[in-house]
Amino acid sequence: MIFELPKLPYGFSELEPHYDSATVEIHYSKHHATYAANLNKAVEAAGWQGKSITEILTSLEEAPQQQKAALRNHGGGYHNHCLFWESLCPKSTGINGKLAEAINAKWGKFESFAEAFTAKALGHFGSGWAWLVKNKSNELEIVDIHDQVSPISLGFKPITVIDVWEHAYYLKYKNVRADWIKAWWNIVDWKKAEERFIN
Ligand code: MN
Repeated sequence: MIFELPKLPYGFSELEPHYDSATVEIHYSKHHATYAANLNKAVEAAGWQGKSITEILTSLEEAPQQQKAALRNHGGGYHNHCLFWESLCPKSTGINGKLAEAINAKWGKFESFAEAFTAKALGHFGSGWAWLVKNKSNELEIVDIHDQVSPISLGFKPITVIDVWEHAYYLKYKNVRADWIKAWWNIVDWKKAEERFIN
């Protein structure tokens, strides 16, 4: 299987003004594309052609020693970005349904969840991601994960996500990660999150 970039569900400029066109284009056509290319090299070197990305990310321990790091980093980088793009939309839809109920049950109200998620994304030291996931007990949890490690490799089911690597926001927001996180709330696709939550 050759891993390709997924088609974006919106144009580069459609997430403006919250997510600028230049960053989206470079992030997708350079950063994400490089993860895909390097993943394909690692898959070939490992003789792992034919495995799905989920199979790869959940069986890293069985990978040939020399390819393990490359499969983790580029496989995670490839898939994390696929999930990230799919988690965004030009105009955030607002949240309702079963996911909203589960968030309210866990955090009391949406605003408290949003505060906790923002704090986790802001507090993550260095490169990585903040995720809303379902954990192994099937409960919602906010986690931050370093570099390109996939939540799937850790037994989590991803619901929604923000990329807090500097490449994700530096062109527009410079060193002010807090502004990027604030902007991100305007482009979260809660319908997609709900779909992942109930499936
Ligand atoms: Mn990124």
